[in-house]
Amino acid sequence: MPDSFDYIRPASLSQALKHLSSDINDAIVVSGGTDVLIQLRYKSISPGKVIYVKDLEELNKIEENPDFVRIGGAVTFSRIMRNEIIKRNFR
Ligand SMILES: Cc1cc2nc3c(=O)[nH]c(=O)nc-3n(C[C@H](O)[C@H](O)[C@H](O)COP(=O)(O)OP(=O)(O)OC[C@H]3O[C@@H](n4cnc5c(N)ncnc54)[C@H](O)[C@@H]3O)c2cc1C
Repeated sequence: MPDSFDYIRPASLSQALKHLSSDINDAIVVSGGTDVLIQLRYKSISPGKVIYVKDLEELNKIEENPDFVRIGGAVTFSRIMRNEIIKRNFR
């Protein structure tokens, strides 16, 4: 792991984006951590800020629109497979 970094759990997507945009070259987004934690451990990345986004409500939605379905960046495959909007539109 790097010697130190700030671990940030923003309360909203707009807060996450503020953190990210204020330090775009020194921040990384983390969701499950499968890839990012390995990269941190082996020091292939050394960000100053790690921004955790998995809990963000805005990224956990599956929304039906007239012409498209929007799937948030933190929605898991298992939730997609069980979701009624997905079943109705894609099965
Ligand atoms: C041992 C091992 C086995 C694996 N097996 C499989 C497999 O069978 N099938 C498969 O498909 N994949 C597999 N993977 C790959 C892994 O599951 C994917 O890379 C996936 O991205 C990990 O999700 P995570 O949320 O844990 O990622 P993280 O480590 O949190 O993030 C991965 C990348 O996505 C970025 N990111 C995370 N969330 C967001 C967001 N909301 N918006 C924008 N960027 C974001 C991060 O900054 C990072 O660059 C495997 C990986 C490992 C280490």
